[in-house]
Amino acid sequence: MRQPLVIANWKMHGKGAFNQALVSDFLALLKEYRAACVLCPPTVYLGQVAQLLGSRDVMLGAQDCSHIDEGAYTGEVSAEMLRDCGCEWVIVGHSERRQYHQESDALLAAKLTRAQRAGLTPVLCVGETQEQREAGAAEHVVKAQLLGALSDLSDLKGLAIAYEPVWAIGTGLTATPEQAQDMHAFIRSVLREFDAANADALRILYGGSVKAGNAAELFAQTDIDGALVGGASLDAEAFAAIVSAA
Ligand code: PEP
Repeated sequence: MRQPLVIANWKMHGKGAFNQALVSDFLALLKEYRAACVLCPPTVYLGQVAQLLGSRDVMLGAQDCSHIDEGAYTGEVSAEMLRDCGCEWVIVGHSERRQYHQESDALLAAKLTRAQRAGLTPVLCVGETQEQREAGAAEHVVKAQLLGALSDLSDLKGLAIAYEPVWAIGTGLTATPEQAQDMHAFIRSVLREFDAANADALRILYGGSVKAGNAAELFAQTDIDGALVGGASLDAEAFAAIVSAA
């Protein structure tokens, strides 16, 4: 049995007063839920959000980490620093980082290793573009992203995957539950080839315009173990409803 996991990716949104209202409203609305829940604010607000979460059973995560341990790398934040700030999770290889920062599979492999070594659980994001899907290459692309990023790992322990079709991120377009389930089952089959002993325990999240209104039907699919949520995580009511649906 995989405990559902729901992760908020605030991206580059937030400000002191907004964060305070968002987190306290969300915590007040969060009543009955069985999912594990993680908030990933921008790095500069990790301390603020850690304080706001207090002793509540909601974890802290980061949106990215460096592929280097430490040194003269201006602007970078290491996995160890994130752990030191209270993070337990880190998103790795979000499509926006792949697109705007040219993050390669080899770089992501290094980030996964750094994150795990620091005691963080990385959430590796994979997903195809609209053109790749239309060309019938979605599975090929996702498999290559998985195997490329996992190349330095010996097993699948301490890891989660997020399938995020690029065409569904922030667009309002959601993969149908069947489209998402098909890809999640495919991802699990690739993972079984990689590490049969741990593939069934690994959580595969769906991401791409998840909202309060479509969460339950996505979560009802066999291989969808939760969600990585962008836009809707900035709305306390919507995000609490998504967490409760998981
Ligand atoms: C994301 O940022 O990972 C995401 C899925 O965004 P949205 O929910 O806004 O599509």
